[in-house]
Amino acid sequence: MSALGTAKTFVADDTAAVATFLGTRPARVRVRSGGSRQLRLPEPGDATVLDLSRLTAIVRLDGPDQTCTVECGLPRADLDAALATCGLELPCPGGGTLGGLFASDPIGASTFGGPSPRSLLLGMDAVLADGTPFKSGARVVKSVAGFDVHKLLVGSEGRLFVATRLHLRLKPAPRCVQWFCRTGLDVAAAIDCLRKLQQEPVPPAAVQLVRAPDGSCAVQGRFAGRAAFVAEMLRRHGLPESAPCWRDHLDPPTHGEVVGGATLVGALPVLSSHLPANASLLWQGGGRFEAALPDAISADAFLHTCANGGVSTLVVHGAPERRGHGTLRDDGHQRLQDGLRRALDPHGILV
Ligand SMILES: Cc1cc2nc3c(=O)[nH]c(=O)nc-3n(C[C@H](O)[C@H](O)[C@H](O)COP(=O)(O)OP(=O)(O)OC[C@H]3O[C@@H](n4cnc5c(N)ncnc54)[C@H](O)[C@@H]3O)c2cc1C
Repeated sequence: MSALGTAKTFVADDTAAVATFLGTRPARVRVRSGGSRQLRLPEPGDATVLDLSRLTAIVRLDGPDQTCTVECGLPRADLDAALATCGLELPCPGGGTLGGLFASDPIGASTFGGPSPRSLLLGMDAVLADGTPFKSGARVVKSVAGFDVHKLLVGSEGRLFVATRLHLRLKPAPRCVQWFCRTGLDVAAAIDCLRKLQQEPVPPAAVQLVRAPDGSCAVQGRFAGRAAFVAEMLRRHGLPESAPCWRDHLDPPTHGEVVGGATLVGALPVLSSHLPANASLLWQGGGRFEAALPDAISADAFLHTCANGGVSTLVVHGAPERRGHGTLRDDGHQRLQDGLRRALDPHGILV
């Protein structure tokens, strides 16, 4: 069943409704699940919003197999609550809905080499821009079923196809979790702390560096596992226990912008040295970073430096005309991306 909501919004109740709507050949469509990211995307113009927020079912939760199938409009918080009752978790950071989180992948992994939306997505049900439904991947962890088309969802931001159901890998919730927060560090000391944590055979379950506008840094996160292991890790690295502390994103300063990218721990000293003294930096253990810059001029200067250093970076929060502005992709990458868009959405319906 489906219903047209307010003008220019189509509210879908199931996969069939999504397929029927797209089959009517709407001119331009913006996919929206929870909607929390819409202000960070390019303006949709006159596009009709395809609203997936009613697709909220947990279709299947297989505890022994540690997998589940969810509809894309399901809020992450609702899935977390259901998983907690059977001792499982979705081991990647991020909020909003599952569809929005996997399609935008704004944070990646929370620790060195940790699980991220890309590695947790086992398969999906989806609909092409012309209304053709398709399935990719499988419900199970061990699948030999060829090319992983479903991985294209991750980071596609609703521009390639519309996912309606996701098959996800889960993991057991740890027996003991302890958050830590070491504050008052300078950049060098914070990076040294990160490097030592990275060398552990079992690194923290989550770790991030936060540089405040006054230049002081914190290394924070959580260890998970057996109680004795968690206590030993905190002692060995001199990490004070703390209440849960984690930031998914930075807020932009007034008139400022947030730029995002990815870099390894080893490149953090250089990256940090190119930021204005009063810019905040948030670096996630999986490698993603955000930097909050006071204005567009300093953001452009930073983007330029990143481009010269081979770090791909773009404006993720700023004035509408600035969103998505960033370092140029190489020609091959750009051609591949444009070709994928043309192949999957030849009429450029999904914006
Ligand atoms: C409280 C809060 C604060 C946030 N703050 C920030 C922030 O400061 N900076 C930041 O970068 N992000 C921020 N986010 C966004 C967040 O990190 C994720 O991007 C978010 O989880 C997306 O969820 P959503 O359901 O609201 O996404 P939506 O806005 O609905 O969608 C996100 C993207 O995914 C696409 N999409 C959604 N569903 C599908 C689907 N089923 N198939 C194909 N494409 C789809 C959409 O077209 C869109 O491009 C915030 C989210 C929350 C909840």
